[in-house]
Amino acid sequence: MTVLWSMELSLFSNLDEEVTGLDHLIQKLIEFRDQRNWKQFHNPKDLVISLVLEAGELLELFQWKSSEQAVLEKRDDIEEEMADVLMYLLLLSNELGIDLEQAVIDKIAKNVKKYPESKSYGSSKKYTDL
Ligand SMILES: [Mg+2]
Repeated sequence: MTVLWSMELSLFSNLDEEVTGLDHLIQKLIEFRDQRNWKQFHNPKDLVISLVLEAGELLELFQWKSSEQAVLEKRDDIEEEMADVLMYLLLLSNELGIDLEQAVIDKIAKNVKKYPESKSYGSSKKYTDL
């Protein structure tokens, strides 16, 4: 009985793990979108435009300030704009059927090859200049 119960617990913890990732956020965003009948506006082009506009809003928070000053004075706003950027990115990935987690893993693997530690350690040079 105890074994069965702990098996059930581990099954549930696995499920929890699955629904707390990006898929869970996408589900929440789709629910929000569909409750407002906004899918009709969420084509890839307009999602990309919105993503870049939100990135611009994030950028604006740093304009005319040092990094330290912006973070100190605008941390809450930065948090909100980062969320906006991520939300549009997630909606775009959903619209295009792109597994963003896998895409990030693949891109890191590419960057490992592009930027070998021996050449890029402590350097801000682009891979073409290494
Ligand atoms: Mg915004």
